[in-house]
Amino acid sequence: MKSYAQGLQIRLQDELSQLQEQGLYKKERIMVSLQAAEITLSDGRTAINCCANNYLGLSSHPRVLEAAHKALDSHGFGMSSVRFICGTQDIHKELERAIAQFYGTEDSILYAAAFDANGGAFEPLLGEKDAIISDALNHASSIDGVRLCKAHRYRYANNNMEELEACLVQCRDAGHENVLIVTDGVFSMDGYVAQLDRIVELAQKYGAMTMVDECHAAGFLGERGRGTPELCGVHGQIDLVTGTLGKALGGAMGGYTTGRKEMIAMLRQRSRPYLFSNSLPPAIVGASLEVFRMLEESNELPRKLAENVRFFKEGILNLGFDIRDGASAIVPIMLYDAALSQRMADSLLDEGVYVIGFFYPVVAQGQARIRVQLSAGHSTEQLQRVIDAFGKVGRRLGVIPA
Ligand SMILES: *Cc1c(COP(=O)(O)O)cnc(C)c1O
Repeated sequence: MKSYAQGLQIRLQDELSQLQEQGLYKKERIMVSLQAAEITLSDGRTAINCCANNYLGLSSHPRVLEAAHKALDSHGFGMSSVRFICGTQDIHKELERAIAQFYGTEDSILYAAAFDANGGAFEPLLGEKDAIISDALNHASSIDGVRLCKAHRYRYANNNMEELEACLVQCRDAGHENVLIVTDGVFSMDGYVAQLDRIVELAQKYGAMTMVDECHAAGFLGERGRGTPELCGVHGQIDLVTGTLGKALGGAMGGYTTGRKEMIAMLRQRSRPYLFSNSLPPAIVGASLEVFRMLEESNELPRKLAENVRFFKEGILNLGFDIRDGASAIVPIMLYDAALSQRMADSLLDEGVYVIGFFYPVVAQGQARIRVQLSAGHSTEQLQRVIDAFGKVGRRLGVIPA
């Protein structure tokens, strides 16, 4: 008789080969260089990197590296503890204060990742008398977090404010005690920005609370890089903000939730990924503090990124490409055809440009695209090379006029 383990092994082998046949099997490309605007791959090729979340070019920035080294020397390698046992150092508290100051909020709490911040945000705060209204395109971590919570669930189509208002009316009629609207600040596949001004207005009208996941916006959207709330003119007016230290803000890892002090205090008591998972290592904490200092000192990096986005979009539109034109640092170049998106990405790598083609089920059927992510670390010369490569490959593949 077959053992259960053998049965599972056969099933997994089947499913894995199906993924491969359908072209859905995710492979990992191996880099041998630092994370930067230009990278070296294991086959020796170099490429301009347009698919990292390294929006501010801080992943290997000298100031960030130096701060990490210093914290490593002064505070050690690891904490070997969760926060409430013996995993809290002075710098962990300092970083939580810096994050609250950055957002104009009352307090913050650190997590090992934003996935954990979102996963652990809902269940401690809301219960069966309450309701959560989510944007349909919210990140997987918010979706999972909401699932772990007993609150009633409502959902509106991406960025559709009429549907959001209809949900709020339903919630009012159902008599839920507390209602929380949850949205990503920037939707990462389209690069579109949530209409936070309208969301805050609707929340006020119906007495709801707001929560924004700022992973693809924190540090660079808005004049001073405070993210989507700043861009939409509602800085300091969001009840709960989550974000990552693993994208623009240094790129290592770590997440946070910031907002009203009673909410943060309760998360420290009850949020399971905080209570039952290790404290952030000192090197990351020290480096992140330096990142917030840099953003406090000047808005040079967010400004450089905004300039790069303008420059790139102009070049790519002039070539005749069709883009999704959001206000973020993500520029999806629409190809609609899945196979074409893969061929184009491969050809671009041959030209020294590293991008990824996305297709169903990551994006809707027939909406295949190449997603370009810009960075303050890209030089104008590098971006011109990227634009030229898109022109050359696009003409050869018949995507744009010859
Ligand atoms: C990347 C991302 C996360 C997860 O962040 P980690 O810190 O890597 O866990 C959560 N939400 C959104 C919107 C993201 O883009």
